[in-house]
Amino acid sequence: MKDTFKHKGLRQQLVEIIRDKGITDEKVLKAIGKVPRHLFMDSSFLDHAYQDKAFPIAADQTISQPYTVAFQTELMQIKPGDTVLEIGTGSGYQTAVLCELGARVYSIERQLELFKSTSKFLPKLGYRPKKLIFGDGYKGLKEEAPFDSIIVTAGAPFVPKPLMSQLKIGGRLVIPVGDQVQTMTLFIRNGPKDFEKHEYGEFRFVPLLEDKN
Ligand code: SAH
Repeated sequence: MKDTFKHKGLRQQLVEIIRDKGITDEKVLKAIGKVPRHLFMDSSFLDHAYQDKAFPIAADQTISQPYTVAFQTELMQIKPGDTVLEIGTGSGYQTAVLCELGARVYSIERQLELFKSTSKFLPKLGYRPKKLIFGDGYKGLKEEAPFDSIIVTAGAPFVPKPLMSQLKIGGRLVIPVGDQVQTMTLFIRNGPKDFEKHEYGEFRFVPLLEDKN
């Protein structure tokens, strides 16, 4: 598990690529510049780690494109100490970016294999989310709610109601909504029943699946 000067240099180039694509939040860019993405991927993909592309990981899932990770993270507007829920832990890359920003992260994954490997891997890099959970993200995490922000990192065919109700007043839900193609959507909870909705461009995610195996 090496993070060499070469890796750091490539990572800085990646930061400039996503800055050019429109990410402006310096804290988010700094976090992307810190997380050693090559260590979150299979060794055969090492060469690709610092391209701005999604790549396959275990269990037929993907590690999200760095630009997408940055875009979603920017919409969350994280402050240090925020309590954050992530749906779709996957490789743990997005989880690590959230940890870099000082969030207290809860993250749910429905694939047992990924849950197990990522649970072991993140602490080895020094990332300590509050809790990783093996379960179904559609339900959210009632016992730790309400959250300052919630991020869904898989394509949701609809917006799960529990995620809306587990937001703090003023909290933000960032969720890609759609079947084949998803519209990045931000909900800001302005009151118990008052949600402000913003839509951003189109993205492609692996699907948020029901019925965990
Ligand atoms: N954040 C991840 C992205 C992984 S892809 C990363 O940076 O690597 C999306 C992940 O969502 C996959 O690991 C998939 O298994 C998981 N997922 C799909 N449906 C889910 C559900 N209902 N609950 C929790 N996780 C789910």
